[in-house]
Amino acid sequence: MEKIYPIEKIRDIGFIAHIDAGKTTTTERVLFYTGITHKIGIIDEGTTIMDWMAQEKERGVTITSAATTCFWTPTHREKDSQNEYRINIIDTPGHIDFTAEVQRSLRVLDGAVVIFDGVAGVESQSETVWRQADKYKVPRMCFINKMDRLGVDYEKAFKSILERLTPNALAVNIPIGAESKFEGVIDLITMKAIYFEGEQGEIISVKEIPADLMDKAKEYRKVFIEKIAEQDVEVLTDYLEKEIEPSEDKIREILRKATIAGIIIPVFCGSSFKNKGIQPLLDGIIEYMPSPLDLPPVQGIHPKTGEAIVCPPDDKAPFAALVFKVANDPYVGTLNYFRVYSGVFKKGNYLLNASKSSQERIGRLLQMHSNKREELEEIRAGDIAATVGLKNTNTGDTLCDPNHPVILEKIEFPEPVISIKVEPQTKADQEKMSLVLKKLSEEDPTFTAKSDQETSETIISGMGEFHLEILVDRMKREFNLNVKTGRPQVAYKETIRKTVESEGKYIRQSGGRGQYGHVLLRLEPLERGKGFEFVDIIKGGVIPKEYIPAVEKGIKEALEKGILAGYPISDIRVTLYDGSFHEVDSSDFAFKIAGSMAFQDGAKRASPVLLEPIMKLEVVIPEQNLGDVTGDISSKRGMIESIGERTMMKIILAKVPLAEMFGFATKLRSLTEGRGVFTMEFDHYQEVPDNITQEIIGKEVA
Ligand code: GDP
Repeated sequence: MEKIYPIEKIRDIGFIAHIDAGKTTTTERVLFYTGITHKIGIIDEGTTIMDWMAQEKERGVTITSAATTCFWTPTHREKDSQNEYRINIIDTPGHIDFTAEVQRSLRVLDGAVVIFDGVAGVESQSETVWRQADKYKVPRMCFINKMDRLGVDYEKAFKSILERLTPNALAVNIPIGAESKFEGVIDLITMKAIYFEGEQGEIISVKEIPADLMDKAKEYRKVFIEKIAEQDVEVLTDYLEKEIEPSEDKIREILRKATIAGIIIPVFCGSSFKNKGIQPLLDGIIEYMPSPLDLPPVQGIHPKTGEAIVCPPDDKAPFAALVFKVANDPYVGTLNYFRVYSGVFKKGNYLLNASKSSQERIGRLLQMHSNKREELEEIRAGDIAATVGLKNTNTGDTLCDPNHPVILEKIEFPEPVISIKVEPQTKADQEKMSLVLKKLSEEDPTFTAKSDQETSETIISGMGEFHLEILVDRMKREFNLNVKTGRPQVAYKETIRKTVESEGKYIRQSGGRGQYGHVLLRLEPLERGKGFEFVDIIKGGVIPKEYIPAVEKGIKEALEKGILAGYPISDIRVTLYDGSFHEVDSSDFAFKIAGSMAFQDGAKRASPVLLEPIMKLEVVIPEQNLGDVTGDISSKRGMIESIGERTMMKIILAKVPLAEMFGFATKLRSLTEGRGVFTMEFDHYQEVPDNITQEIIGKEVA
């Protein structure tokens, strides 16, 4: 029976970083140290050495799993089970350009550790993630890594955080030495030097601060204590009037509160690679990152009535969980990872997928640890776990108590707006391509794949050029599937602007049995985003019921290839209001053709128009580049909606046609010397201006 951790002893966190800053290495070190304590602390009788070694081989797999659970007791506390905490590490995407993935992970974690390369300091991607985390109000702490690297400069890196990300950054420990002489850290709370000894830095040795670093340590301590004191009137008065400094416990208490409120961002340092500084970072995660209890409860809605439902972090509340990742695991199959917000659930029972209105029996509950997969009997509020074998459950779905249906604030995924053609390179590639594409689109709700019946081409669609590039790269690395790709194309659509009526007749009398299908349709424009509606108002059996689905099918097929430039038609209602049939010659086939013909004829006369995806653009830039960047956006048919400020940067919000945005990343980089960052997501479809339509149609014909 697994040990139950009360919810205040749970930390659901993620490590986020610019690529190469050391996220993987740091996670590995964290799992290593937490693994040792767990083994020493609790003797797990069921685990033999052989078992452990066999499972160790899977380590590579579980480390990269969507969520890993580990345990830690802060080093300054007694090592008893009262002081042991559970940390659930939620994997965050390596490539922060995937808005959906970033949103998804920021949505389910309660706090984040942002890792920096001590040589590079703040890099462009760290800035992007930082702004995203600001938006979701995620409490954060920082880790300045790679203190052993040649050219490392702690002060410069720390200053880059202060200047580029937040004035609230506050050093909690500082390095002893640098580069090959990096030895340990000075803890500014205890004013002690901490060294990491033993082969893997697992032995912590606490000593006095070296004499040559005393002045520097005092300087940092002064800033530290002042900032802490400012948070609490009593502490501040004692400090200013009587020069009394707060106790270690009081400091931790204040720092915890301020970090959770985002008023202070604690900064740690170390070298994951050299096994130095990880244990204090772990202590910090426990001490300063929120438990699910520290944050406001999540809000959901009733799937039928739409009424608001609060899901408190409480075992006694009805069960509610959010699926944040669907992953294919080579050992167990399709895993659905979810975060539990409320309640307790025992395996073997039923859960309602409220987003899909379907019930499923949950046969297995799994939790991933660094070296093993644990089968759980039950899960409770605050837990992160996975289940196997759910049908029809996707990322973003809510799993809940069937008697208390709720849909948690849904993760909104943007529509795919960019497409490219993919062509398998060999016969073997061709054979596995559709399976691979299916797997990838199950994992990623913003990725779709479709094959064109006529041309037998396969088109994949996603949220941006980079998104598709990464997916193509994954096909190669993970599935050994090689494809040739075409140029990225904007996913245009078509629609109509006028209501028209039209007639379609498919009548053939060529000896033997003929063909007879005859329909009258009304085509009407619908509001943006409404898709396609088919209405049947046939009376008196002028077309027998059995042929009506065939008419609809014919129209649907015609919708896929528009009349202007072959893009799918949407936002249209088609009403079947009249027609006729023939006792002998009528067939599904004839009515399907008649439906398709009538539709195409009508659509041509209904003032067809192209629709293009308009993106919501957020650009964060230094103030001095404001003019250049707004100018560039305006020249791209962009509409600037607001210019705001967030921690020392200007934020432009705008709506821009996607078609104009190719190459924007490069342009922005050159306009802002690499400091500008942007995120972009689909907002809505809008009519393409006439002059531009001509260009697009011209291109299609050529
Ligand atoms: P990720 O892309 O953020 O997951 O980064 P990795 O953990 O894969 O690290 C990227 C590179 O930096 C690897 O070559 C690591 O060995 C190296 N690295 C990570 N941490 C440190 C460190 O503390 N010091 C040094 N010198 N190199 C490090």
